[in-house]
Amino acid sequence: MPLLPGVATLGVMGGGQLGRMFVQAAQSLGYTCLVLDPDAASPAGAVAHEHLRADYLDPAALRELARRCDAITTEFENVPAQALQQLAQSRVVAPGASAVAVCQDRAREKAHFDASGVACAPYAVLRSPADLATVPDSLLPGILKTARLGYDGKGQRRVTDRLQLAEAFSELGEVDCVLEQMLPLALELSVLVVRGADGQVVTYPVQQNLHRDGILAVTEVPAPQVDAALQSQARESAAAIASGLGYVGVLCVEFFVLKDGRLVVNEMAPRPHNSGHYTMNACDLSQFEMQVRAMTGLPLREPRLHSPVVMLNLLGDLWFDAQGVERTPDWAGVLALPGASLHLYGKAQARPGRKMGHLNLIGATAEAARASARQACALLGLPSEW
Ligand code: ATP
Ligand code: MG
Repeated sequence: MPLLPGVATLGVMGGGQLGRMFVQAAQSLGYTCLVLDPDAASPAGAVAHEHLRADYLDPAALRELARRCDAITTEFENVPAQALQQLAQSRVVAPGASAVAVCQDRAREKAHFDASGVACAPYAVLRSPADLATVPDSLLPGILKTARLGYDGKGQRRVTDRLQLAEAFSELGEVDCVLEQMLPLALELSVLVVRGADGQVVTYPVQQNLHRDGILAVTEVPAPQVDAALQSQARESAAAIASGLGYVGVLCVEFFVLKDGRLVVNEMAPRPHNSGHYTMNACDLSQFEMQVRAMTGLPLREPRLHSPVVMLNLLGDLWFDAQGVERTPDWAGVLALPGASLHLYGKAQARPGRKMGHLNLIGATAEAARASARQACALLGLPSEW
C-alpha cells in the first residue's frame, strides 16, 4: 500500500535547498513534512511544517523523526549512514543506508561501477603512503580525490608526476584517496534515474552540463551535442547502476564524454541533483515529485520533457557588483524574459560560490530557450558563452 497524500507525514534528513524543493513538492501533493537539520537558518526548515533543530546523530531527534514520519529521505550525500540505519528499524527509509554508503565513498562507488559493467576512469585506491609506489605510470597525469566528503571540486588535486602525487596525498592528510587518470573530456553529462521499491526504473533525458571553477554553471536539455545512441547508453548505464544497488529513490549519475566519443561514468549522488533542477519547469514530473513518489510507493511513470530548457545556476557572486558592493540582481528584468522561472532558496547571506538559486528558461525550441538564457546572462552579468 502506498503512503497516500493527505494522510502520511514525510521526513527529510538535511535542510538545504534540495530538502526545501523536496518539501515544496511533497506539500503540493498534500503531505505533511518534517525536516531534521541543526542549522536555524535551514532553507528547508523555513518551509516545512516543522523543523527539528538537532544534530543528525541526536538519538532523541531521530526517535522523534521516526515517531512522527511514515517515510524518511535524505537530501545530502554525507548524512551519517548510522542515522539512516536507526530510522530504518521502524520506518521506510529511501534511499537506504547501504546504497548511500556506497555513494559516500569513491572507492566503493567505483567498485560498484565496475560490477555494473559501466566503464569509469582508470584509477587506483591509495590508503597509505606505501601505496604511492604501486601506482602505475599510466594514471599520470591524474586527479587525486579524497574518497569521502568531496564536493564542488573540493578535496581534489591535479597532479602531473609522482612527486606532485606524494605532495598532494600528504596535503590531503593521507586520508583514503582515489587517483584517477586525467581524461580528455569533450563534455559532461548527467542522468537522473528513479527506482521504486518494486524494482521499476525510469530515467530522465540526458542533461549536458557546463562547470565553472568546479561548480555546475549551466545545464541544457536536450543535450545539444549528444547523439541518440550515446543518450540511450547513458540512460541504460544509469539504470543498471541503480538496479545493482537495489536503490530506491532518485539517483543522479554523472558521466564524461571523451574526445574519442566514449562514455565514461564519473560519480553518482544519492538524491535529486543540481543538474536536475530543469525538471521543475521543463518536465511533467519534477525530480522532487519523483523522490516523493519513490519513497511513498506511489506509481512511477516515464517523465516527459515538454520543452527544451536551459538552467542557469545562480551563485552568490551575482549579489555583488564589480566593486564588491552588495546588490539585488535584476529579477524583474529576468522574469520579463519568455519562459523564465526563478527559484531562490531563501538564503539570507550571499557569498561568492554559494548556491543561492537557479533560473530555468524554457522555450518552444532549443534556440528559443537558449536566446532567453543569453538575455538572462546579459542582465545578470553572467558569461553568455557556453
Ligand atoms: P560535485 O560537485 O559534482 O560533487 P566533485 O567535487 O565530487 O563534484 P568530480 O565530479 O569528481 O568532483 O570532479 C569535478 C570536475 O573535475 C568534473 O566535473 C570534471 O570537470 C573534472 N574531472 C573529474 N575527474 C576527472 C578526470 N578523471 N579526468 C578529467 N577531468 C575530471
Ligand atoms: Mg561531480
